[in-house]
Amino acid sequence: SLERIDVGDGNDELTELANAYNAMLDRMQRNIEQQKQFVEDVSHELRTPVAVVEGHMKLLNRWGKDDPVILEESLDASLQEIERMKSLVQEMLDLSRAEQVEIHYKNERTEIRAIINQTYNNFKLVHPEVSFILDDDLEDDILVNIYRNHLEQILIILLDNAVKYSTDRQEVHLSVSDHGPNVQIAIQDFGEGMTQEDTIKIFNRFYRVDKARSRHRGGNGLGLSIAKQLIEGYHGKIWAESVMDHGSIFRIELPKLKKNETVEK
Ligand code: ADP
Repeated sequence: SLERIDVGDGNDELTELANAYNAMLDRMQRNIEQQKQFVEDVSHELRTPVAVVEGHMKLLNRWGKDDPVILEESLDASLQEIERMKSLVQEMLDLSRAEQVEIHYKNERTEIRAIINQTYNNFKLVHPEVSFILDDDLEDDILVNIYRNHLEQILIILLDNAVKYSTDRQEVHLSVSDHGPNVQIAIQDFGEGMTQEDTIKIFNRFYRVDKARSRHRGGNGLGLSIAKQLIEGYHGKIWAESVMDHGSIFRIELPKLKKNETVEK
């Protein structure tokens, strides 16, 4: 692990600098660990198809020359596994490119209710099997400073997850309310939930709770890290509350704009 600087408990500039340096090292260390975890996951997923193809090649080598049935079956199976490996590799390439994507924040006066209604209606349409409930407690129309596509993107990430990690009770609540100077949007599901510890970690790149559970649901562990990066760029915040096997609530908050407050272009 990375070498930290030993700091005393003085409050001079040097100590401050050393503390900042140590905090930076900690962040780097966490990044390294996440990347190691990701490489481990992918290697694990590649190992199976490689082993399957190897098995078929051995079969072919021993019997395939004389047995047309084995020949055909093994070739088919191998080609299928190769397809899987190709898409895994493609996924990795996409991910490493996604890592380089830079977000272009854009100031815009966005009417929050309109975006929520629109996203809510889209989800109802796309997921007829889920009951969506919308709870609108806003006194008034509320404007926030966020590029509307970015707000939509955040809502889509959270609603997608709520649907994806729901279990028997296929119900998703979407609510919006005033919270002092902020507006709060909450998205609640009654699905698999997670531990207290994981409610923090899930916002890290590539982090996925209990791989055995979430792997078969598809995804790459990037959605929430993107949502966090997006909302924080607009001085908002995002957090999760959850109870294992009972469900989760994701909340986002954004500062409200005054009625005639303008935003810098
Ligand atoms: P992905 O869903 O692609 O894995 P995300 O970054 O969106 O990536 O989520 C990270 C992890 O957080 C998920 O793999 C899942 O384990 C957990 N998670 C996210 N949303 C929920 C939810 N609503 N309920 C339970 N677990 C969730």
